[in-house]
This record gives sequence, structure tokens and C-alpha cells, in this order.
Amino acid sequence: MTEASGTRLPIHSSTINVTFLGTASAMPSSTRNHSALAVRLGSDVWLFDCGEATQHQVQKSNVKMGKIEKVFITHTHGDHIFGLIPLLAGCLNGAGGNADGMEDPRRNINMDEPPFEIYGPLGTRAYVRSALKYTHTMLSRPYVVHELRFPSDPQTGDYTNLWRPRSESPAGRNIFQVDGVWLDVYKDNVLSVAAAPIYHSVPCIGYTITEASVPGKIDPQKYLPDIKRTKTPLNVMSRLQAGESVQLSDGTVLHGPKPRNGRKLVILGDTYNPSPIIPIAQDADLLVHEATNAHLPGIMPSTKDGDTFEGVQQTAMERGHSTPQMAGAFAKRIGAASLILNHFSARYPGDDDIDPESKVIMDAIGNLAATEFGKPVVCARDLMSVDIGFRSTESSQMDTT
Ligand SMILES: [Zn+2]
Ligand SMILES: [Zn+2]
Repeated sequence: MTEASGTRLPIHSSTINVTFLGTASAMPSSTRNHSALAVRLGSDVWLFDCGEATQHQVQKSNVKMGKIEKVFITHTHGDHIFGLIPLLAGCLNGAGGNADGMEDPRRNINMDEPPFEIYGPLGTRAYVRSALKYTHTMLSRPYVVHELRFPSDPQTGDYTNLWRPRSESPAGRNIFQVDGVWLDVYKDNVLSVAAAPIYHSVPCIGYTITEASVPGKIDPQKYLPDIKRTKTPLNVMSRLQAGESVQLSDGTVLHGPKPRNGRKLVILGDTYNPSPIIPIAQDADLLVHEATNAHLPGIMPSTKDGDTFEGVQQTAMERGHSTPQMAGAFAKRIGAASLILNHFSARYPGDDDIDPESKVIMDAIGNLAATEFGKPVVCARDLMSVDIGFRSTESSQMDTT
């Protein structure tokens, strides 16, 4: 089912920016917060996961709270969703209770306003509804929850007996899989989001964001001699840039450049095997893949004598997680242009930009992934910001700050 949406301004003239708000796995540490990342697309911001204290991380980052319009939840483990209610309250002017005897303005919500959109697996709607109810939280703007239902889930209903709160739009969809994936989870004229199940200890979702094809790169030198010779006004260049063919006064036909593929991001939740997303993840410009555990003998003091790579991988997989090598191999398998790892065990420090010892550890983790991927791999740090440009012939343009 396709979301009916307004028209979005093209974003191809700007970079897509990814800011890692939290990069920890189960336990946060002094240098890593729980999972969340923000994708800036033109003037909008979409969040992927919203772990505890995400709102604090947003405040510390260059992401603007007021620009967040959608949140995509990969799975309902607490480290990925505990921050959703505070974020919702922060974005939609919510707070507990109301002043005695006062008519609260939040009782009059304009439901014609576009709702704040939340996407997630079964249980997301029930979780938001019950948390708002039992914390007496009222919101001044509408929100909506769209659930991506697995084939084994109930296909109808809200999965809760609680009434819809005043601020929840009744337009929340239950989205069903077609051929093992959720196509057009969201779609407008510029961006589309698809999703697929990925294997974890609980139902978990990987998302793809795809930009529609964009105008090709124009080389003015290629056209100028013909344009000058025929005294054609220079503004013909804008038609060529749009990909049109133009006939000049002497019969010469100039063809504008072919459109280029838009950019594609693949953002996975926790997983020990994301292979069901392969059909929709090919040729990603960026893959974000978890790497919870690594075998780092001689580098991590906590390595025990009997530890082996196979043992570490087996334990990671039994807990629903991946090693850096697994992430690297998957990135290669989908032909990704770049790979960033996240969701690190609390033992892997997130201050590798300032602490040389931390840098040794995180570089080693990146290198383990790179051995499988065949290209350098970045380990995410909290508040790290990455610009995703267009893929050149060899690899995507990625600037990390
Ligand atoms: Zn997790
Ligand atoms: Zn999890």
C-alpha cells in the first residue's frame, strides 16, 4: 500500500547526512548511548531507532528536534525504543498532567495537521498508547503509528485493548509483506522506504531509503559549440540538464545526460543474519550494520586464553548479533559502496577520536570488517556525522566528521 503524500522538493543538490546519536548495544557506557541514528534528507530528519536518552543526544548534535518528522523502529527491544516516548513528548509539546481547573490547550488538537509518523513492528502502537496513558501524557499535535506486520502476527487490530488517545491519528496502517518484504512502507515523489525482516532474537526489521533517479551530470563544454554556432539562447542548458533532447535551428539534436540512480541507504537493526533484505538492499551507497562482538586477541585485555574467533562468533549469533567480519561479508554481498558499523558492546570504547588506546581497539574492529568487505570500514561513534554523496565510478563519496 502506498502512502498518499505531498510533493517533496528534490534533494539531489544536497548531501544526505547520517548522524549517529547512539552506538551502544545492551548497556550504554560513558562514551556510547543506546541506539538511534538521524538521517537528514533535505530539510527533514528521520530517526532510526530511539533508545533511552535519544532526546539528550539530539540536543548535543546538529540535528534539530523540530525537523524530526518520522521515526522508524527496527525492533521493540528496550535499547531501541525506550527513548521514543520522551522524544514524542518533546517534539509534540507533551507533558504529564495539566494545571488544576485549567482547560488544557492540548485537549483541542488539530487532527488536520500532518501527524508525526512512527513505523515499527507489532507492539509499537500498543507500547506508545500505554506509555502515554499511564504517564498521563497529552500531546498537542497528532501522531500516527504504522506497524509492519510479520506473516505470523495478527493481521488486524491494534494489539491492545486501550482506547486510541486523542492525539493518535486513526490513519495508522498495518502494513503486510509481499514476497517476504515490505515495499513502499513510505513513498513520495523523491524518497521511498522499503523494509525486510532480519534475523534477531525477536522480530526485527531492516530498512532501505531510496532516492528517486536524479538528473544526470551535465558537461556544458559538450554542448556549447553547437549552441554558439546556432546562436541558441543559453537557457536551453536547463532543458538539457533536465534530460530532454533539444533540436537546434540547423537540425542538430542535442541529448541531455541520462538520469542517474538516486542514493540508497540500508539501515539494519540487530541481527545475526540479515539475508532476507538482500533483494531490496543491492548496491547501497551506505550500509549500517551492527557489530556487537569481536575477537581481538592481543588488543582487548578481556580476551580469555580459550577464546577463538569461531567461539566469539557463535556466542554473538546465539544472542542474535554479528561480528565485524559478518558485517563486512554482508556489505560485500550486497555490493555496498560503504559500510559503517554500530551497536557495539559496552567494552568497546566510543572515544577513539581522543584516546589513542580506544583508537587501536576500534581500528582493529574496523579492520576485521574490512578484511571481508575489501574496503575501509568506519566504526560509528556517538554524534559522528557522515555525508552521503553520489557514487562515483568506484565508490560512494563519504565524508566523515
Ligand atoms: Zn540492541
Ligand atoms: Zn535487540
